[in-house]
Amino acid sequence: MPDQFLHDRDNIGLEAEWDTLQDSLSGPLRRRLAEIVRAEAPHLARQFYSILQNDEDLSAMLPDELVRNRLVHTLKQWLLDLFPEDQAPDFLEMVEKQLRVGSVHARINLPVQHVNRAWRMLAEDLQLRILKAAPPPEDLKLMLRVSASTLNIAFETMTAGYARETTRSARSEEAYRLFSLGQNLTQEREAQRAAIAEWTQTILFSVAADYGEDQRTPLWESEFGLWLIHRGGIIFEGMAELDHVKAAISEIDSRILPALHRGRDIHGGLALLQAKVNEIKSLLGECFNAATRIEGGHDPQTRMLNRRFMDTVLTREIGYSRKMRKKLTVMMIDLDHFKQINDRFGHAGGDIALQKCAKLVLDMIRIGDFAFRYGGEEFLIALVETGEEEAMTLAERLRTKIANTSIEVSEGKNINITASIGIAEFKGHPDYMQLVKSADEALYGAKQNGRNCIIASA
Ligand code: GH3
Ligand code: MG
Ligand code: MG
Repeated sequence: MPDQFLHDRDNIGLEAEWDTLQDSLSGPLRRRLAEIVRAEAPHLARQFYSILQNDEDLSAMLPDELVRNRLVHTLKQWLLDLFPEDQAPDFLEMVEKQLRVGSVHARINLPVQHVNRAWRMLAEDLQLRILKAAPPPEDLKLMLRVSASTLNIAFETMTAGYARETTRSARSEEAYRLFSLGQNLTQEREAQRAAIAEWTQTILFSVAADYGEDQRTPLWESEFGLWLIHRGGIIFEGMAELDHVKAAISEIDSRILPALHRGRDIHGGLALLQAKVNEIKSLLGECFNAATRIEGGHDPQTRMLNRRFMDTVLTREIGYSRKMRKKLTVMMIDLDHFKQINDRFGHAGGDIALQKCAKLVLDMIRIGDFAFRYGGEEFLIALVETGEEEAMTLAERLRTKIANTSIEVSEGKNINITASIGIAEFKGHPDYMQLVKSADEALYGAKQNGRNCIIASA
């Protein structure tokens, strides 16, 4: 991750700047600065979060307990790491860490201006503390400069991590939107073809019967037009063809329809209408094709959701659980000794086993739950409105079901597979990665415990 950051043109030279800055402190001065930071860190960290908690929206996101038990400690440690006693802080380590913190802030939607403010106050506060410690003037100058620049560079890096994560999650949101709306693209495509054909028929009929113009429904106001404005507008957002479709509809309504009168060149008018309608159909076909290509939201092998939607889905679900005070549990499943299955029955045999296990999982969860292919033969399941106890029961049923299912991996060759499962209930941390991490650790515990078993995160 830091690689990309370091290669960014804007950041070339940052390392040299950091090193020069850190080298300007002598050993004794570094220790003095570290001592001040260590003495003041608890206060600085508490102050930082109390500023954030002053905000109404943020206070819901940062409950006291979370702040007291975890966040304050993390920030304290973070300050100590930036100002170590015995050596200059390593640049690469610093970058990696700040990028990570920035991406966590982005994932929990911490408004950037609040962090900026809390940060500025922290920096000012630290300066005050250094002043209070009253070292000799020359030392004081140096300590003030190093502390301020160290915090600034760290903050700059953190902001870069924030920006990057925000872009990434906007992309994922976009893909998810397309995916969730476009689940039934084939069906939707047929329905729209039928709707526009039906509208054309009624127009033809009304012209033939010589009904007045007021009897004709403009295309924009037809069922097709409504669909295009609402659903179509979302599914095809940003596609150039969509604008062409809109222009063609407007042309039909404003120019072609009004000219359709008996006595005028009716045949010419109808031919023009038909040509425009065909143009719309073909443009729409292109829109659907493009949307279908983007859609690929399911992993074809397992039929589970693609991992790239995890961010969007879990962020939403955590938000929902917090707001509605509902439970949420994440289950991480990894098939046991899968490499051996590949070794014994070939990759194709492994694929069959994998598909079968995925299907067993999908058949056993509810339709409101989310199943992701997290890794090769690792699944992440988000059980909505489900607590740990209920999740344990389900996991146990799943475990036995997998273990007791005989799978034919190649002709006449049946095997039994087992799975290890880690479970973690949502405990209020706004960053979904914490939840995933807990489930992952629990899974690791299950593997350590001999596999084919379930462990719940403490
Ligand atoms: P463990 O019990 O510790 O999980 O052992 P394991 O052998 O399952 O180890 P691990 O989970 O680390 O490795 C998973 C293996 O699954 C590695 C990879 O070759 C295989 N695998 C991953 N994806 C696929 C797939 O799509 N098809 C097949 N056939 N094999 C896969
Ligand atoms: Mg495995
Ligand atoms: Mg694995």
